[in-house]
Amino acid sequence: MTDTSPVWDRVRGMEPVSLCDWPGRVSCVLFTGGCNLRCPTCHNASLAWTWEKLPALDRATVLADLGRRRRWLDGITVSGGEPTCLDGLRELLIDLAATGLPVKLDSNGSAPDVLACLLRENLVQTLAVDVKGPWRMYPELTGHAMTSQGARQSLERVFDLAAEYPGRVYFRCTKVPALSPDDLEEARAQVPADQPLSFQEFVPPRSAVDVS
Ligand code: SF4
Repeated sequence: MTDTSPVWDRVRGMEPVSLCDWPGRVSCVLFTGGCNLRCPTCHNASLAWTWEKLPALDRATVLADLGRRRRWLDGITVSGGEPTCLDGLRELLIDLAATGLPVKLDSNGSAPDVLACLLRENLVQTLAVDVKGPWRMYPELTGHAMTSQGARQSLERVFDLAAEYPGRVYFRCTKVPALSPDDLEEARAQVPADQPLSFQEFVPPRSAVDVS
């Protein structure tokens, strides 16, 4: 793989040290550009929809930085945007695996086939998958990018993956303003009782750091 690998052109941000993106771990977060959804409360809208305007990171620089800091890191979080939108995601994860650090990937859960491949090939240790809210609210919560039925089908396949790979997939729901306490309870009830769903407070968007 060369430094001109197209997938690295989609890596558009880096948070060198994060204590909250991988619960219980100190991780470096890489942000990939592009997302298939249009959530009105998107936490990273510039990465999701106008990522081309952000500076790309240099592959060699990032990998060298991770190599230098690996003794202080517990892992790498790949976030977005939506990483499963990347054609070369597998190549990116193979590059990151060469650092020796485990990888956690954040996903909106809309591409269960991609997530299944990543688990099967052991390219990620952990998946953090969004449950946006009740199935009936998915059109509203995703800017009409997912239907209620499509969301249910995709996420139920991810629930199956979580059962197949115990301890490696967890679910999270952000308490965006559109969700009432009853809606949150309905979202909780959609997830199998033996699988974790953590509720996160809705916080204002943050900016990724450019280290290119
Ligand atoms: S899935 Fe995430 S990155 Fe994509 S639009 Fe929704 S909040 Fe933004």
